[in-house]
Amino acid sequence: MDIHLTPANLAFIDELRAHIDELPADATARAHEEMEVDEVDLGEESRAWLRLFGEGGWIGVGWPREYGGQGRSAVEQWLFLEEMAYRKLPTGRLGISSVGPTLMRVGTEAQKRDLIPKLLSMDARIAVGYSEPGAGSDLASLRTSAVRRGDEYVINGQKIYTSSGHYATHIWLAARTGSVDSRHRGITVFILPTDLPGVEIRPIYTQAGGRTNEVFLDDVVIPAENVVGEVDKGWAIIMMALGFERTFPFSEIAHDLEYLIEWLHSDEAPAGILDDSTTMTEVAELAADLQIARLFSMRTAWMVDQDEVPLAESSMSKIWLSEVRQRLANLALDIFGPAGALAARTVGAPVGGRFEQLLRYAPLMKIGGGTNEVQRNIIAQRGLGLPR
Ligand SMILES: Cc1cc2nc3c(=O)[nH]c(=O)nc-3n(C[C@H](O)[C@H](O)[C@H](O)COP(=O)(O)OP(=O)(O)OC[C@H]3O[C@@H](n4cnc5c(N)ncnc54)[C@H](O)[C@@H]3O)c2cc1C
Repeated sequence: MDIHLTPANLAFIDELRAHIDELPADATARAHEEMEVDEVDLGEESRAWLRLFGEGGWIGVGWPREYGGQGRSAVEQWLFLEEMAYRKLPTGRLGISSVGPTLMRVGTEAQKRDLIPKLLSMDARIAVGYSEPGAGSDLASLRTSAVRRGDEYVINGQKIYTSSGHYATHIWLAARTGSVDSRHRGITVFILPTDLPGVEIRPIYTQAGGRTNEVFLDDVVIPAENVVGEVDKGWAIIMMALGFERTFPFSEIAHDLEYLIEWLHSDEAPAGILDDSTTMTEVAELAADLQIARLFSMRTAWMVDQDEVPLAESSMSKIWLSEVRQRLANLALDIFGPAGALAARTVGAPVGGRFEQLLRYAPLMKIGGGTNEVQRNIIAQRGLGLPR
């Protein structure tokens, strides 16, 4: 892999920035504000902004033109995600970074023609329904069932932590079509519209203040054509989608580090802190580790351009990034002292309470997308060929 961006990549970044800057500034500010508060990027303002932004294939820059993208490289799709993360602007999240790329590889032509352009226009928004109350890390034990009845399936069960489910038009659903003990050999992926009778979505609020959901499915009937790939063969599709999902952008954290460094240079920082070698070493190490995060992330995009699906590589990226995020939150608290635990809109909260929010958010990212412990197992077994 060449770790340098090409002249075409750099020109793309300039073009992307110019496109963002051309959009109405108030709409951009509202979408940004919603992201800051909600942490979920499919809210009303975000959708409105993405519709404006997305004209001309800007959301799926790396997707084929025939499906509404710009036909550029996966590295450029990654650069797009990084730019948005730096500015804290929406991207359409898992529909764009996980489900869309998977559907393009395994969906029927009809599914692709129907859903992919809608994902790019925000007319369709997808949440991911894998986890259940008794099946998180051990996803192969999921119990939500899909039973064939003529040309339809009847679905019953419960999902949990279905992020963005309350904004979604569809759920990318993992359900059991095999026998109860069939484990990963009896799971099928379905595209489930959320407006069907029997779908109930209830909120769960996280410690970071954002909303995720539990989803109850009670005799929900969907056409057999909503099966993705082959019946009982959904496990490989889920692994592929998770490989795409786990390549989180690094630049939101890089921006947070810039905020911290700016504060260290400000009058609010304790006198002499810039001469404190322990603190400065930690800041420097984080800055270096963020560059490693960038390379992990870029590698996964580069692999997609080589027609490979990253798996252990995405797990490496996910662990590294989420741990750097946690270290930054911890370091900020060490530097700020008790004031670091003051929330936004509280008098005396350093950097507007940004790092208090990070402190609550960082642990979630070590769990969401599969826990870091489980990612280490994937690296050991799938990446290094070690035994279970
Ligand atoms: C912010 C957030 C967003 C999420 N969004 C979604 C979503 O959109 N869709 C979705 O389907 N799910 C989502 N999840 C769920 C997430 O994927 C699960 O929480 C995660 O896979 C862990 O499952 P669990 O919560 O059941 O914990 P458990 O699996 O019960 O794990 C408990 C602990 O045991 C450890 N552990 C378990 N098995 C092993 C093992 N084999 N080796 C070592 N350690 C192990 C885990 O690391 C963890 O520390 C989200 C979670 C969070 C926090």
